[in-house]
Parts: sequence; C-alpha cells; structure tokens
Amino acid sequence: MKIIPIFLPYAGCKKRCVFCDQIKATGQTKIPSLDDIARIIEEYSRTSNGYELGFYGGTFTGLSEEKMEEYLSFVKRFSVVKSIRVSTRPDEINERKLKILKKYGVNMIEVGVQSFLDEVLERSKRGYTSEEAEKACKLIKKNGFILSVHLMVGLPGSDRKGEILSALRTVECGADMVRIHPTLVFEGTELHRVMEEGEYTPLNVEEVVDICSDLVCIFEGWGTKVIRIGYHVPVELRKYVVAGPFDPSLGDRVRKKTMKKVIESLKPSRIFVPENYLVWFESAEVEVGDEFRFDDLSYADALFFTGKEVIEKWLNG
Ligand code: SF4
Repeated sequence: MKIIPIFLPYAGCKKRCVFCDQIKATGQTKIPSLDDIARIIEEYSRTSNGYELGFYGGTFTGLSEEKMEEYLSFVKRFSVVKSIRVSTRPDEINERKLKILKKYGVNMIEVGVQSFLDEVLERSKRGYTSEEAEKACKLIKKNGFILSVHLMVGLPGSDRKGEILSALRTVECGADMVRIHPTLVFEGTELHRVMEEGEYTPLNVEEVVDICSDLVCIFEGWGTKVIRIGYHVPVELRKYVVAGPFDPSLGDRVRKKTMKKVIESLKPSRIFVPENYLVWFESAEVEVGDEFRFDDLSYADALFFTGKEVIEKWLNG
C-alpha cells in the first residue's frame, strides 16, 4: 500500500544525535498542525482511496501520551487511511506506549536502532545500549507489530565487522524489514564538526556499496526484507550534504553488486529472473523467467549461501 508521509521534525526527540539535521534533510522547518495534516491527507486522497499513513522525522513514542493519542485519533478519522506506521527510537518503547499504538490500529513500528554496537551508539550520542535496542525490538515483536529496523552504515567507530554484527543482531531480533542508510555529513551537525577536527572520516560510495551488498546477502538470505538502501535527499537540499557517500542510485548499485557477489560465489550455469529484476544484472548473464532462480536455488537460498561466506570471511576469517 502506498504511504502518506507526515514529517514531524524532531517531535518527541529529547536529544540531538550527532549526524541528524531533520530540517536540512527534509526541508521541512516546522511540525505540521492538524489542519496541515488534514490538507496533506486530502491531497493524497485525490489519487487513491487507500493508504498507509506514516509518522516520520522524529520520535513518535517520545511524545506525551496525550499528543500521541491526538495525532492517532485524528488521522484515523479519514477513511482513506487504512493503516498507520510510526517511527521512533528504542529507548522510547515500553508496554504502555505500545498499548496506545495498538489501541489506534498502528500496525508497523520503524525503529531507528542505527547500530547494535555500544561504542558506535555512544559516539553517535544515541543514548541507549545495544541491549536496550534488542529488548525494544523483541517487545515490539512480542506485541504483534511489524518491525522495521533502521541501520546506518559508516557511523563513527564502526567497521565492516561491526556492520555485519549489527545485521546479524537485527535478524536475531526478528526484524521483518530493514532500511539501510549510509552516514551522510550534513552541514552544521556535530558530525560535521568532528569530521573537521579530523576525528571522523566518512565512507566513500564504493565502500558503502561493497558493505551494503554484504548486508543484503545476510538480511535477505535470513528472511529480513531490505525495503530501502540510501537516503532520499531532494535536489534543492543536496548542497547541505558536505561529505559522505551520497548517490541517488545507491540502491541499484548495491543490488547489482549483490548479484555479482552471488554469481561469483555460486557460479550458477543458468540464472532466471522476473523481468522487473533484469536491471540488477548485465543482460548477457540472465534469462527471463517467472521465478528468481540460480540453477536450482531460490533467490533467498542463493543469498543465504553467499551470506554465509560473507560471515565466514569477515567474522571467522
Ligand atoms: S532520534 Fe532521530 S530524529 Fe531525533 S535527533 Fe536522533 S536521529 Fe534525529
């Protein structure tokens, strides 16, 4: 189902993470009023009569209970809103808050975990530990929500091994889906200052494509769907990205690299792919088929075996 995104910049955030600038990343300078939200929903309802509404850009469950209920009860009045998702952080999840979300029919929670490494979380000033993040994810699953985890690649203090460990913890927590964001340096953030002081070096695009393709093998080989790779930064806001691996076609590049790794690892003699996945391959490599297959292996099995090699290389090698 298509999404109506409602951005509530910094709403519910009690502290500022070192890499974050919601205003420069989204161009939205203020929290929309209920009237603004009604106008956005009505605008969308001209083109379809069924949407999922997503609250993004802040920490939804960091809002007061009254405020959460005000937003949720308000958007539920619109018949075009068929389901609701919210984004939040691990340290703002507890049974009581989940109960409120349940009451209003929220079905998916997107949790910005960013990393499951304590040192990385500390250097990013996230304010929680990996254990707390794991607990929050498991609580969300226990309460029957769809869990989407957001991870960042290339945060201060991380390396390839750390990114792989974070991916494995995400799978272990039962994440249904994941968004992978490369760390970009936005002008004026604390990360910008740290970088200028020489204490942080961002990844480049090639490095990020290579790391993310390893992560895709692990996620999709183990059953966690990758729903986004890379940031959408509107053209007029790209001037605020002062460093880091920004590439509007990062997702496609990662998918191509992933398929390359699978082919190098499994050396299949024939590959069949549904037509809409042809863009992930060089045309000579594949044939069009109803199902995705590498010889007798399904897509998920092929990524699983390639993912096992990734783990072997970086964790046990
Ligand atoms: S919790 Fe999210 S929205 Fe809030 S400051 Fe941190 S990264 Fe930004």
